Amino acid sequence: MLVSDTFMRFHGCDCLGHVENYASWPWTDAELVIATCMRWCPYCGQGFASAGKLREHLRGQRYKQRNLYVKIEAQGRCGV
Ligand SMILES: [Zn+2]
Ligand SMILES: [Zn+2]
Repeated sequence: MLVSDTFMRFHGCDCLGHVENYASWPWTDAELVIATCMRWCPYCGQGFASAGKLREHLRGQRYKQRNLYVKIEAQGRCGV
């Protein structure tokens, strides 16, 4: 059974280099890299004060069920 790749994704950030990533953001069974510039959940569009808060959100039960795992990304530069 194919789980919809047609679901809408929200943009986690506005960087030129990142925005195109969100179009192919994995829906299940993936290791997510949350860039330090991300403030919005790609799944529900909820906004957060920091990338750290967003990571906490993505570690929640709701996403764990889908086998999504949040990878820690070293402090780093953003796209541009
Ligand atoms: Zn970005
Ligand atoms: Zn969410």
